[in-house]
Amino acid sequence: MAGRKVRVRFAPSPTGPLHIGGVRTALFNYLFARQHHGALVFRIEDTDTHRFVPGAEEYILESFKWLGIHFDEGVGFGGQFGPYRQSERREIYKKYVQILLDKGKAYYAFDTPEELEEKRKEIKNFQYDSHTRMQMRNSLSLPEDEVQRLLAAGTEYTVRFKVEPGQDVHVEDMIRGEVCVKSDIIDDKVLYKSSDELPTYHLANIVDDHLMEITHVIRGEEWLPSAPLHVLLYRAFGWEDEMPRFAHLPLLLKPEGKGKLSKRDGDRLGFPVFPLEWHDPKTGEVSSGYRESGYFPEAVINFLALLGWNPGTEQELFSLDELVKLFDIGKCSKSGARFDYKKAVWFNHEYMLRKSDEEVSKLFAPIVAEHGIKTTPDRIEDVVRMMKDRVDFVKELWPLCAFFFVAPSEYDAKTVKKRWKDYSAQQMTELIDVLNGIEDFSVKGQEDTVMKWINEKQYKLGDVMNAFRLALVGIGKGPGMFDISAFLGKGECLRRLHRAIEILK
Ligand code: GLU
Repeated sequence: MAGRKVRVRFAPSPTGPLHIGGVRTALFNYLFARQHHGALVFRIEDTDTHRFVPGAEEYILESFKWLGIHFDEGVGFGGQFGPYRQSERREIYKKYVQILLDKGKAYYAFDTPEELEEKRKEIKNFQYDSHTRMQMRNSLSLPEDEVQRLLAAGTEYTVRFKVEPGQDVHVEDMIRGEVCVKSDIIDDKVLYKSSDELPTYHLANIVDDHLMEITHVIRGEEWLPSAPLHVLLYRAFGWEDEMPRFAHLPLLLKPEGKGKLSKRDGDRLGFPVFPLEWHDPKTGEVSSGYRESGYFPEAVINFLALLGWNPGTEQELFSLDELVKLFDIGKCSKSGARFDYKKAVWFNHEYMLRKSDEEVSKLFAPIVAEHGIKTTPDRIEDVVRMMKDRVDFVKELWPLCAFFFVAPSEYDAKTVKKRWKDYSAQQMTELIDVLNGIEDFSVKGQEDTVMKWINEKQYKLGDVMNAFRLALVGIGKGPGMFDISAFLGKGECLRRLHRAIEILK
């Protein structure tokens, strides 16, 4: 292994939208590949034709494009080790299945699904293995000429892996250390099915990892139970020396309670578990996505990076480049990572603060336009500058900022009751005159004159400002008063004051 160029892969099955846990797996592969100047391969594991979902592959690719995770090779990226879609590699697998058969490491099994079902009923916890295989119909139990006759007659068969009992199987895991199991507990897994002339996941996965010169297999913990079988497969092929190193990433756990994160948790608590919105082609059901919910891809990446890994310091905000430098697969935790979606919102807010006003404005501009507002990019940027620290998502800006573009059509009743005094109309009428006389309508220009007037009249600052705010904004909250009035300009301020006086009296 030493000296080999690091090559890792992300190998999803196109069975639906990519779960956020899968995105985390891809991210950790990406970070590992980049920090070792290696290659990241994108492989599609689509040998289970029954579970194939149209559109899933495109969805997965689009998700990574949005997140900025780039692959070096694979479906959609090209490369020297293709094809990278397993359904296009049938002939390759057939060859390797034959090698195992020839070596006596695998055998034909002719048991029908009904026969297997019978056995399962007959024997509690039935497992197809060294203890039971001779009771079954396969090339080990049947006479040779019967096997040949069945094959020649085109009888459907599977090829099963012949797991020898009594062996210790060691899996060296970069996160968990050494895991050791007895081969006796491993069943004779189906490696190939003649019905669709396709291998199962296990065989295709091992053959491809070998042929694609994968050096490290970084994947979710749910694959840990398969790892001993994979080690045995490497052994059976005689590829043990080039076996990749394994790292099984901790599960993502529910935000609360026990068990792993599911789509239902997201539905119940109102957060997405998929990177992009997904329209199920069969049921028509729509599942929310991080992108459509208004998350920044950088925030999602940062959030995911800290699920199961931490740098050992207090730092929480990392760019992708920083993550590449700091990430350490050996420091991933063994225990599950709780999925704290509120933290994802926090990250989004932090990234909002760090984004330039211009960048946020570009995202906000279409929303402003959707509301029928014609304005300039500079005006939108001014609003964003005043308001972006108050929101977590760009889409939250409009309800808070609409008053900048549209005069209030009504005034919040509670605020009116509390803030609009008997004398407010009188004070606002005077304020109209004061504002009218101001030439320099900048924040500073207004502030000086208005404060002078308030002092001379010995008015209460709060009284004036609250009524002024109510007239301009319609509610009792918002950014600095003169920031608002400077933005609106003299004409609009006076119009809004007149109207408030007229309505509130
Ligand atoms: N196709 C498997 C999946 O869908 C890949 C597992 C592995 O990385 O070995 O997750």
